[in-house]
Amino acid sequence: MTDPRLEQQIASARRQLDDTNAELWQISGGQGNDLYCRPGCGNCCTLAVNCSFPEAMILAPKLSAEQRHAVTERLPLLAQLCAAASHLKEFLRSYRQQAGGCPLLDEQQCCSLYAERPLSCRALLSTRPAAWCGVDFASLHPHEKQAFLSSLDADLVAFPSHYLARPLDLAATLELSLGDEFANEYGVKISGNLVWLLGLELNSQVGERLLRQDRGVIEWLLEQQERYPYLLQVTKRNHHEF
Ligand code: SF4
Ligand code: SF4
Repeated sequence: MTDPRLEQQIASARRQLDDTNAELWQISGGQGNDLYCRPGCGNCCTLAVNCSFPEAMILAPKLSAEQRHAVTERLPLLAQLCAAASHLKEFLRSYRQQAGGCPLLDEQQCCSLYAERPLSCRALLSTRPAAWCGVDFASLHPHEKQAFLSSLDADLVAFPSHYLARPLDLAATLELSLGDEFANEYGVKISGNLVWLLGLELNSQVGERLLRQDRGVIEWLLEQQERYPYLLQVTKRNHHEF
């Protein structure tokens, strides 16, 4: 589905976040505080990446046939991990261990849609070497964990993570506003796992159905949320008239 107004809002949100990041890179260099993000270190792309549905909806038509295949092929495993988990933490852990990296990672461990990646991906700026982005903290010895936490600058990072707080906070605000704009237009706020949301658009044409004012799609999404609570979050906007 294409929605030019939504595309403009997303482009503007990306610009705001990219400008903030550029400023932070400049400050970091000047103060000798390293940021470690480089092309080809895809450890952060093994996290369960969440985004707003409008971002996935705009991204889906830009995927190549190969990327569509990679996304669709991943969906049964995500459904299985979601069904097997008894709480969110367990899901996130098994996702990291078993889901594999994002299907949009290329062979060089770079994002194959870098310019189009969601705000949540753009927002990760690491103040520690990339190896730390792949660590399962539950498996660390308590002393190692404590040493790591004590080494973090709590004024800069989104504690207890080692990622800069400012881009994460800005991305969260921008995502919220995209979700609200979408809900005002289409009567429903949708967010969730990036791969899952891409699958929803590719295989169930959620955006197209909302645009066609298909009333059944919101009820269907609410049912999907009940089945896959760690992959999809849906809030119906009350009193919305198609
Ligand atoms: S967040 Fe971590 S893994 Fe991702 S690009 Fe930055 S340093 Fe590399
Ligand atoms: S969309 Fe790109 S940056 Fe984001 S998780 Fe996937 S490969 Fe990584």
